[in-house]
Amino acid sequence: MNNNPSPLSGLHFEIEKTLPNGLGRAGIIKTAHGEIKTPAFMTVGTHGYVRFLSADDLHELDAQAMLSNGYHLRRESPTIAAAGGLAEWQPDRQDGLDNSPWLGPTITDSGGFQVMSLGSGLGKVVSMEKERHVSNTAHKERLAHVSEKGVSFQDPFDGQPDFIGPEESMQIQCRIGADIHMAFDELTSLADTYEYNIEAMERTERWAERSLREHLKHRDVLGYRQNLYAVLQGGRWEDLRRRTAQNLAKMQVDGIEFDGFGLGGAFLKEDLGEILRWCNEELPAEKPRHLLGLSHPDDIFIGTEMGADTFDCVAPMREARHGKIYTKDGNLNLRQFRDSGATLDAGCDCATCRAGWTLGSLRALWRSGDPAKKAQYYRLASAHNLRFIVRLTEEIRDSLLHDEFEQYKHGFLRRYYHN
Ligand SMILES: [Zn+2]
Repeated sequence: MNNNPSPLSGLHFEIEKTLPNGLGRAGIIKTAHGEIKTPAFMTVGTHGYVRFLSADDLHELDAQAMLSNGYHLRRESPTIAAAGGLAEWQPDRQDGLDNSPWLGPTITDSGGFQVMSLGSGLGKVVSMEKERHVSNTAHKERLAHVSEKGVSFQDPFDGQPDFIGPEESMQIQCRIGADIHMAFDELTSLADTYEYNIEAMERTERWAERSLREHLKHRDVLGYRQNLYAVLQGGRWEDLRRRTAQNLAKMQVDGIEFDGFGLGGAFLKEDLGEILRWCNEELPAEKPRHLLGLSHPDDIFIGTEMGADTFDCVAPMREARHGKIYTKDGNLNLRQFRDSGATLDAGCDCATCRAGWTLGSLRALWRSGDPAKKAQYYRLASAHNLRFIVRLTEEIRDSLLHDEFEQYKHGFLRRYYHN
């Protein structure tokens, strides 16, 4: 996996092709633990491993990178550092699978989203009709309190008071040692006002500078370069999005800039493309951009078209656990496939489909009261759904490289959303 000549030379991003709109592109991100060919989907392993899938399973489905969470791994972070970092750590798995380390490129989220969404009902994307149900975090009892210093919160498991600010987040992430880190930011909800978004965005920029300063002290401690992305907020307002993109693009500490950018915030699906366009028109083209927490095919297409390079989301696995199976003709609900001998998705190259599993046989495992059979179902269904999204990004990449993005996009989306 080590194909970077100098482990401390830092992240390198090479753009291979750009869409006529000047934003969407295909490229290669080079890290100390290997390459990520973009656009790419990063598999979510919140606790340092992907639930129900071993490292071998991830390689089998051609996963390129794993995203873990600074908040969830904060207590294990000293142990992870002692192991040489996340890519070499053997997690204490709760699912009984082989705990060989992942070895490839890794990324961590700052944990800001997790601590700030404790008890608040913050969500990533909602459709228009659901908007009114999103509670205004300011009016709801929260387990987290935001101040200039950072976020104080109650641990949801033991009720103990805890605190994470930009410095703590950088120290935790540098102990975990992923190749790419996210600066500590404040996520607003769709119900927050323009005025509150200005306040949160300006605080996020001050936190970004503190993150960058602290990160510089620790980024080489494990013997390879750990890179830092700034996170853009600003809600759904063009002036805020463009302004914060400009500010973060030129931000420096001791002559050092951010290595890339995280595109953050809660989005209405309808607004996603416009918001990404505002951000990415201002950001420097030569640095990579990660769209945080989205993976549905329409989001990946609009994200790629508007200049996002990498994606992550728990949805493919969470939806698999709920019996939702991804197919090129739309998603299936396993409930409706009792005794069905049909394949999951004709032509799918995942390990589950290659082994001949049918909708009916998977459904029987899923509905079984036997925990071992349920775990087997989770593994088989997660592998299929993840491979579906990974293959989608591979095919989008190919279409970009061959100047066929528009045709591929229309063909895929017409079929997928036809039902
Ligand atoms: Zn499959």
